[in-house]
Amino acid sequence: MEAFEKNIRKVEPYVPGEQPRQRVVKLNTNENPYPPAPGVERALRELDTADFRLYPDPACSVLVDAIADHYKVGRDQVFVGVGSDDVLSLCFLTFFNSDKPILFPDITYSFYKVWARLYRIPYECKKVDEDFRIVREDYYGENGGVIFPNPNAPTALYESLELVEDILRHNRDVIVIVDEAYIDYAGPSAIELIDRYDNLVVTQTFSKSRSMAGMRIGYAIASPKLIRYLNDVKYSFNSYTLNRASLVCGAEAVKDRAYFEETVEKIKATRERAGERLARLGFSFPESSANFLFATHPDYDAREIFEALKEKGIYVRWWDSARIRQYVRITVGTDEEMEKLFAALEAFMAGRKAV
Ligand code: PMP
Repeated sequence: MEAFEKNIRKVEPYVPGEQPRQRVVKLNTNENPYPPAPGVERALRELDTADFRLYPDPACSVLVDAIADHYKVGRDQVFVGVGSDDVLSLCFLTFFNSDKPILFPDITYSFYKVWARLYRIPYECKKVDEDFRIVREDYYGENGGVIFPNPNAPTALYESLELVEDILRHNRDVIVIVDEAYIDYAGPSAIELIDRYDNLVVTQTFSKSRSMAGMRIGYAIASPKLIRYLNDVKYSFNSYTLNRASLVCGAEAVKDRAYFEETVEKIKATRERAGERLARLGFSFPESSANFLFATHPDYDAREIFEALKEKGIYVRWWDSARIRQYVRITVGTDEEMEKLFAALEAFMAGRKAV
């Protein structure tokens, strides 16, 4: 190691799912198989490229206003960023600044550990139970903050608002972040608790239910005070986060409630059909409240399934990680994509003896 390397910040980065260039059946990063709302294309066409020479609005007002109107919260209760990864990363930096460890589940979004290490935040992982459920009592002790996704990823399990509220009640002195990347496929959002719990931050994204992973838009909803703290950190980091196209396209997407509800329902219907089909093939999986299924088979090795599917141009996700090594995570695509998946799974199972 060169002497200068001693002072370099070294991190083990988050590994995102593969983004292959060739056309494949892409069921590996929980994107939406349907295009964004029609208004998005219109907004993009109406953009004046001459304006690209000017910096965008640092307050992101058109987008913040559209989100505030949609959720019926104040404009001062909304913060937007470059995908919820950006929002979450800034939340870690802003809200988790204690010597005590922050708490999150052992099976969860693997980025949490990366941010904790990057920002030198002590952390402790709490084991989810045998059924992958969050154990609420594990979050009652002293800590430096709490974060969990609801629904959790990659398990797809939704925890009731009663559990969320219980964890909030036991953590009045720290910030609790509920990462709701997949909430639109699940039950009610913790946004309805914002006015009663000033220690709550809810994050959501345009990458899943609003079909805009490529535009990178995420947001946080919290009390005006927490949003002010978040903005102070943002403006100490990068004033101009969202570009002009993302701002107007995002605002258009959020205004089209009917299209949004229709695509969410389509995904949920495909999810139910895919679940039935997987069960018939002998897979089991926690009940999904997200746009993916976390499936395991008693007779076939998950890694082999993952690799066999990939060979046929069908990408799903698999982690070489304790407790979940025998699972594959399958994003819910269109019905046609799911047909291709099942044909490939059936061929794999027919050609391979069960182990
Ligand atoms: N939270 C969870 C639980 C996720 O699975 C993802 C998607 N990888 C994100 C946050 C971040 O999504 P994005 O940055 O696209 O909003």
